[in-house]
Amino acid sequence: MCPAKDGDYEQAAAVTGRITIVGLGPGEAHWLTPAAQAAIAAASDLVGYGPYLDRIPAQAGQTKHGSDNRVELARAGHALALAAAGKHVAVVSGGDPGVFAMAAAVFEALEAGDPAWRALPIAVEPGITAMLAAAARAGAPLGGDFCAISLSDNLKPWEVVIARLEAALAADFVICLYNPISKARPWQLGAALEIAARHREAETPVIFARAIGRPDESLRILTLPEAVAAADSADMATLVMIGASSTRTIAHEGKNPIVYTPRSVTKSPCATSQGRT
Ligand code: SAH
Repeated sequence: MCPAKDGDYEQAAAVTGRITIVGLGPGEAHWLTPAAQAAIAAASDLVGYGPYLDRIPAQAGQTKHGSDNRVELARAGHALALAAAGKHVAVVSGGDPGVFAMAAAVFEALEAGDPAWRALPIAVEPGITAMLAAAARAGAPLGGDFCAISLSDNLKPWEVVIARLEAALAADFVICLYNPISKARPWQLGAALEIAARHREAETPVIFARAIGRPDESLRILTLPEAVAAADSADMATLVMIGASSTRTIAHEGKNPIVYTPRSVTKSPCATSQGRT
């Protein structure tokens, strides 16, 4: 065998690092996949929003790099730089890392960053996203066609949010609203629900699913007018789901009604939604 040259060692050092973007699921450890858990256990460095890192028990020899919620791109660049320096990095996200979360930020940083980063092994480990956890608690509201919209206008103009919401309402999708409200965005959810109330019947079920999978979880099943009136009671930990025209409830003694959307569709969206505008 030929003796290794210095250059070979440099090459080897350049690819010893790796990065995995890991979904923690919506709540507690039992909703973390075994694969996500293994990726976290194998990491030398954990990168993420401070409260998400707090959910992971400390492990000997592992360094946590916590950061603020609003610095996703900087955090992604930091994670890539650590991996390029030979670390085994796990970037953690709540829910699924590909849904309004860190995976897209890491790929954005990769696209714009040091070309050498493109040699790094990069993987994404999925997690249970909030809308699936909320749907499971409510029954089967996502049994028919559905979509997800982030109501945050931090990264896109509000007009785009409204245009997408109007289109989804017109097409009669079940609509999941992520990031419904924050201190800096107090009125957007109320405005969105008022638009929905112009398209859909008053008895359309609306689900306010809060902190699902955590000890303080709550689930409220409201009508559209009740949801408009309750918009202020939602917070950053709430996912709001607006039913389609076929979404309905079944009384469930002593419990929240079950919400479900049948899989079969017999009406055209024009007959159900646009006719009301
Ligand atoms: N990547 C995450 C979503 C990040 S956006 C995921 O896949 O779930 C953050 C938004 O997700 C919150 O504002 C809220 O709308 C929703 N969310 C996250 N965790 C939640 C939970 N446990 N219960 C209800 N909604 C949640």
